Amino acid sequence: MADAPGSDDPRNWKPATQAVRGGLMRSQFGEISEAIFLTSGYAYDSAEQAEARMAGKEPGFVYSRYGSPTAEMLQQRLCLIEGAEACRVTGSGMGAISSAILAPLKAGDRVVAATALFGSCRWILANQMPKFGIETCFVDGADMDAWAREIGKGCQLVLIESPANPLLDGVDIAAVAKLCKQAGALLVVDNVFATPVLQRPLDLGADVVAYSATKHMDGQGRVLAGAILTHEKLMTDVYDPWLRHIGPACSPFNAWVVLKGLETMQLRVEAQSRIAATLADLVADHPAVRAVRYPHRKDHPHYEIHKRQMKSGGTLMAISLKGGQDAAFRFLNGLRIADICNNLGDTKTLACHPSTTTHRALSDAEQAAMGLDRSWVRVSVGLEDVEDLAADFSGALNAL
Ligand SMILES: *Cc1c(COP(=O)(O)O)cnc(C)c1O
Repeated sequence: MADAPGSDDPRNWKPATQAVRGGLMRSQFGEISEAIFLTSGYAYDSAEQAEARMAGKEPGFVYSRYGSPTAEMLQQRLCLIEGAEACRVTGSGMGAISSAILAPLKAGDRVVAATALFGSCRWILANQMPKFGIETCFVDGADMDAWAREIGKGCQLVLIESPANPLLDGVDIAAVAKLCKQAGALLVVDNVFATPVLQRPLDLGADVVAYSATKHMDGQGRVLAGAILTHEKLMTDVYDPWLRHIGPACSPFNAWVVLKGLETMQLRVEAQSRIAATLADLVADHPAVRAVRYPHRKDHPHYEIHKRQMKSGGTLMAISLKGGQDAAFRFLNGLRIADICNNLGDTKTLACHPSTTTHRALSDAEQAAMGLDRSWVRVSVGLEDVEDLAADFSGALNAL
């Protein structure tokens, strides 16, 4: 249990305090805002010290591909927020997720993954892994029998995303984690849509959590970054050598931007989720709309799962228009405040057409397998006033 208020162990702080003060390392100048250490290399006091640092026998920085003080502050802050032992940050979300799934595997291994995944994650599993002799079986993320059957056949790694791109599908993280434990497989969760504010996969039994920090962590659409969080042993044995030699390092500047973004993440995510829930209810009643997918609306097919493992419905929704792609395009073109953009988690409301953008590499049949068709629009809800957004959405829908 938490210590008395005033505890100076940051692990006992509440998440909002951890997000503002966690990991803070001040230089001799006593700066209040975290410093950006824009340097590639580090000077050693002696040749002996260089030898000891490189051998890992003395703590300290050696090269910014291995780590930098600014990235280290971000890593410590993320560890606290996520409740993880170890964190490494990368130059993009895909730098983190590709490393999270590639580093532990070898030829002959087998992966089981949910069908509904971020486009690039699916591409790596379907198109790159087979070149290295690693096969992936895709299952419907909501079908527990399919998970039990495929994981039971033997596998080394499982990758899931919940809520998943683009229709906010839910996967029961605790149930899949249990199957993974029995099979001795690593469970990797891409937790980008939920954020650590709303869902903590490590508490549900996951082994590794990966993020695109580009999304809600920066939260203001400025930089790309990513993060891998797991326990100390897996990090030092498996991920550290991979990250150092493959090189998806996060620039100190980008690490700093994300560090500052984290300070307001909880406020932003909670406020954006409230606005998203209101907008989802508003558009669901419109005659031009065929269906709405929002994780905490009762008509979401995976409502029960999302309700159990996510604190609120999150900042994203998907809307299916009755007139198919034509209506979806006219809706996007009719928005006056929200932008057409495939990014998400920004303070600005962003909308896109997954079939022809983020998921265009998938055939119609592959899209259909994840429930996607050309009628769907995905919306990432920002921080604008809910009345202005409601008027914008209603205007674009009324024009259909
Ligand atoms: C954006 C995103 C990624 C990739 O992150 P980048 O920072 O763009 O490399 C991976 N997974 C999900 C769910 C995402 O939304």
